[in-house]
Amino acid sequence: MSLLEISSFAAGQWVAPGAGARNIASAITGEVMATAGNDALDVQAMLDHARTAGGANLRRLTFHDRARMLKALAGHLNQHKQALYDLSFDTGATQSDHMIDIDGGIGTMFVFASKGRREMPDGHVYLDGEVEQLSRNGTFLGQHICTPLRGVAVHINAFNFPVWGMLEKLAPTLLAGVPAIVKPATNSCYVTELAVKLMLGSGILPEGALQLVSGGLGDMLDHLTMQDVVSFTGSANTALKLRANPVVLENSIRFVAEQDSLNASILGPDAAPGTPEFDLFVKEVSREMTTKAGQKCTAIRRIIAPQAQVDAVIEALSGRLAKTKIGDPRLETTRMGALVSNSQKRDVLEKAKVIGQEAERVFGNPDSFNVEGADAEKGAFVPPMLFHCADPDKASRVHDTEAFGPVSTIMGYRDLGHAIDLANRGQGSLVASVITHDPAVAREVAIGAGAYHGRLYFNNRDSMKESTGHGSPLPHMVHGGPGRAGGGEEMGGVRGVKHYMQRTAIQGSPDILSAIGEKWVPGGSEIKGPAHPFTRKFGELSIGETLHTAPRTVTLEDIETFAHFTGDTFYAHMDDEAAKRNPFFPGRVAHGYLLLSFAAGMFVQPDEGPVLANTGLDSLRFMKPISAGESIKVRLTVKKKTPRNEEYGEVRWHVNLTNQDDEIAAEYELLTMNAF
Ligand code: NDP
Repeated sequence: MSLLEISSFAAGQWVAPGAGARNIASAITGEVMATAGNDALDVQAMLDHARTAGGANLRRLTFHDRARMLKALAGHLNQHKQALYDLSFDTGATQSDHMIDIDGGIGTMFVFASKGRREMPDGHVYLDGEVEQLSRNGTFLGQHICTPLRGVAVHINAFNFPVWGMLEKLAPTLLAGVPAIVKPATNSCYVTELAVKLMLGSGILPEGALQLVSGGLGDMLDHLTMQDVVSFTGSANTALKLRANPVVLENSIRFVAEQDSLNASILGPDAAPGTPEFDLFVKEVSREMTTKAGQKCTAIRRIIAPQAQVDAVIEALSGRLAKTKIGDPRLETTRMGALVSNSQKRDVLEKAKVIGQEAERVFGNPDSFNVEGADAEKGAFVPPMLFHCADPDKASRVHDTEAFGPVSTIMGYRDLGHAIDLANRGQGSLVASVITHDPAVAREVAIGAGAYHGRLYFNNRDSMKESTGHGSPLPHMVHGGPGRAGGGEEMGGVRGVKHYMQRTAIQGSPDILSAIGEKWVPGGSEIKGPAHPFTRKFGELSIGETLHTAPRTVTLEDIETFAHFTGDTFYAHMDDEAAKRNPFFPGRVAHGYLLLSFAAGMFVQPDEGPVLANTGLDSLRFMKPISAGESIKVRLTVKKKTPRNEEYGEVRWHVNLTNQDDEIAAEYELLTMNAF
């Protein structure tokens, strides 16, 4: 078999392996199949290329442009995923493992594309939170903004997810407007290289946005600056070594780490054998132990069950694990493939031995198990192994030793407090799960264990059909954890994009804030348009364009009519004496919704025109009641514009309803869809 030469993509050129290249063996046959790495890689040229070409090209685009780019990239990868599947088998992964890595990675990119369009502006500045009132008269305000870092994101990834591991970091990085240099783990870098080739070949990415290091990273970290970010996934030892790099420390370079952790799953005290929760627990644990042959950063390493149920769990789990067919991942019957390499196999067996000092192996024998379609000796195969730790309070290795394979330890708990203590003994994990139908149990665990875990996953009979699994990090939710898990955070929707941006507190006048944020701030200058704003197309409207209506007097008859027409005869609108007894009202007052309806009637331009629909109303506040005889007037201002597609965009209007003394009676934001 000819060796695959796995190249790097550096400063616009593909660079073949050279001096210092490392051999990569197939996980299934143990035979060398590829080579990667080149000591002569010019890391400074790569960093320069990313910072100058990549960063500048990406920052020219808006968040929406970049979100559209991600969608196109994900679509392109989706069309070519068969080639990625075909190549991935040699990493030891089965077809269902590929679905997690390849389809999961593409899906993650699609979610970021969609969140970028829906939750970020079609501009260059992301507003973080609301305007802060810093002065009595509102002439000096505060606003936090995020802008992309001016450096490069260096992604150092683990071997277990050569595609997802890259895309879950790349999507938020590119959406932020920051170029990336991806360094996959050498053992599975041939799959990443193909995914990078596909993305670059698509022509969707601007020059310099994405580069690849196959093999060693050289001294790249020594050349980083304070505008760069390192985002790492892998072992705690490597993370410690890299984050202690003097250049990283001296320049306070962001170092996001996601590392191995001792994730736990708790069987709730209510979930006895015979309940749907018990069966669900056994199913989830066995799936987590065997998917990717247990090489998942989120896999369940510690199984925490009520003391009385330990034997029943061991029996049920062993029954399920016994049905797991191990073998060549290309075979359809195979449920669990191989570890990524024979060196990982040695490591897993060594760690299993360490765990064995404190726990008894109750299922799985690494010296005797069946492997179908492959040679158990040559390939990196191991069986699922279940240990039972009888005294988890005294034990320590079971709480700190991660065998990165299909290895898990069951331990019993006395009461829920004890279960929480045991879960927290991992000293920080990516995820802990609780299978319970009792919301009180869930609440106690959330309060007692939340601080130790990046994600808490609760499942039971109500959610099991649609739940996504203990081990699946989702692009919408934060992935990362404290302490042992690395102390970092990834994804979590727009939160993950912010890791590649700088948050800056902006202080200034309303006009200054409006200009920076491309969003009108109350107190800012008003623009008088040439015609009623409802007659103007999306593109014609300016931020700050304002309409002032004529006043309208509210009468008692209006209140009566509205009350009987809608059925809202609440006493505050109908009974003067009762209303006076209420501390909020001076007597009978107009319905808030009557005022809103009047407001619509006062600012609307009724003819067919560019306003296509009223799609909502946000942040409504009734601030001062209006009594019969008082008059109201409305100010309508274009606050923000967001294109939605080629035909129309969303206009967010600031609406302010005042009384005859210019006191604010109600304030809200109105959303309309306007034609281009
Ligand atoms: P490592 O920590 O050794 O490697 C992770 C990444 O870091 C790889 O890309 C590796 O590249 C790179 N790397 C290693 N040393 C350096 C260095 N000096 N400078 C720059 N980059 C470096 O983890 P492994 O992939 O070997 O896995 C080992 C253990 O890590 C597993 O047994 C498991 O315990 C844990 N792990 C945890 C994961 C998680 O998601 N939490 C995922 C995978 C592993 P290269 O491959 O070229 O050495």
